[in-house]
Amino acid sequence: MENTNAFIKYAGKEIPVLFSVDVCVAGGGPSGTAAAIRAAENGASTVLLERGIALGGLAVLGCVYPFMDPQAPDSDTPYVTEIKKRLQQHGVATFDGVTQQVWHNPETLALIYDEMCEEANVEILYQTTLVDTVCTGAVITACIVQTIAGLAAISAKIFIDGTGDAFLSRSAGIPYECGYEKTGNNQPLSFRFEMGGIDVERLSRYITLDLKEDWCKSKPPYFEIAEAMHRTQRYKLEELMARGVETGELTQEEAEYMQAYSIIGKDGVMSMNCPEIPVRFRAADPISYSKAVSCGRKMMRHIADYLIRHLPGFEHAFISREAAMLGARESWRIRGRYYLQESDYHNQSRFPDAVCRTAWFIDAHGEKVSEKLPPGGYYEIPYRSLVTDEIQNLIVTGRCISASFILQASMRIQPTCMSIGEAAGIAAAWCLAHKIPANALHWESIPAAKRSYVSNADAAK
Ligand SMILES: Cc1cc2nc3c(=O)[nH]c(=O)nc-3n(C[C@H](O)[C@H](O)[C@H](O)COP(=O)(O)OP(=O)(O)OC[C@H]3O[C@@H](n4cnc5c(N)ncnc54)[C@H](O)[C@@H]3O)c2cc1C
Repeated sequence: MENTNAFIKYAGKEIPVLFSVDVCVAGGGPSGTAAAIRAAENGASTVLLERGIALGGLAVLGCVYPFMDPQAPDSDTPYVTEIKKRLQQHGVATFDGVTQQVWHNPETLALIYDEMCEEANVEILYQTTLVDTVCTGAVITACIVQTIAGLAAISAKIFIDGTGDAFLSRSAGIPYECGYEKTGNNQPLSFRFEMGGIDVERLSRYITLDLKEDWCKSKPPYFEIAEAMHRTQRYKLEELMARGVETGELTQEEAEYMQAYSIIGKDGVMSMNCPEIPVRFRAADPISYSKAVSCGRKMMRHIADYLIRHLPGFEHAFISREAAMLGARESWRIRGRYYLQESDYHNQSRFPDAVCRTAWFIDAHGEKVSEKLPPGGYYEIPYRSLVTDEIQNLIVTGRCISASFILQASMRIQPTCMSIGEAAGIAAAWCLAHKIPANALHWESIPAAKRSYVSNADAAK
């Protein structure tokens, strides 16, 4: 890893080049972190930029919990398996014995990511925001970042966009989409939070014995509650929330969506998957987004106060943590070499250059919720949806890969994003070692033993 004394000219200023490396990953979410770790483990000097002070993206900074299960047979790539193993080594009991979702612990996850980066020799730059890229023709030569000390540059041979918002790609001029082509809406934002002081046993007895709700199949300490009025599935808790609208304690928007999961290793704490902020607040408009923060915080308070007053088990509860980033389910997505679409979900598409598989249903809040695929069914994500025609040394990972609004609503869950990131990291290191432009790599040309995922469609090799 070269820590340089060089400077470059940017916007009329001389700014220091902090690092000159093989791979620069922007965004330390589930996908960007996986990409950085795997790139470094495969021999590439790697810098990982994160605007917050913890890795994990929405899973840590956004309080998004737990990992949903891709619901496809053998979908776990080695990195996902390793994360689960490390959580268990840290004493986090990830499985409830009934469902396949991974119950983790956000603070432990952040610690594990730091440990893995240290072991792999990934240089993390915290509180560092990517603000621009510098390109020469079809190559990104450097990115410009805002660090705690001011503007700086990082030069690299390959850049990986793990920002979730395709920010690195957009700043390099890559074509993109944003929102649903039929309505112009992004998926709704959520402002997630955690509540402590909950008597989860009492809550569980009330839900299962008094309300006779059998939706949550697991028992405390693995326990979840849910209601979603705007869906077709009916939950017993809807009556409670509807009463809040009648009495004026809740608005209809506050009452419409509420979900909570117990957190392993945080007794009495639940991760609140709400409030869901109305779609008139736009995920891709800085002014509207900022108003969404204030609106969401008010909604959060109303919902918390209402549950404390009326939901058994919440009598002594309080807001113990609010997310450090809004939950954007979808914002900007690149248009890359392959454009994944809804038909790929229904047709269960397979690709020789697939980097992972998933069967998570299409869950485009407010727009479309699909049927699940039949048991054993899945579709694959090709490497070509991670790269673009325009820039040779760019790989995109996570929720902003080349996918339609509807398809993205299936591939966006955290384990799938991790698997995509893992492949991005392996691909970057392979391209550097073999002098192949990242956008010209045929993933299936990497020996199977070195790939994190091998498609059955590539069985001939
Ligand atoms: C409300 C909500 C509920 C969800 N529920 C679940 C669930 O229950 N289970 C599940 O598995 N998935 C769930 N998801 C989906 C999942 O959390 C995301 O799709 C996933 O985290 C995407 O991973 P990512 O790495 O692509 O991006 P992100 O998690 O968004 O991470 C992007 C990272 O990049 C950083 N970043 C962004 N821009 C810059 C910049 N310019 N410079 C530096 N750093 C930058 C951010 O700070 C962040 O750390 C949910 C999502 C939302 C919003």
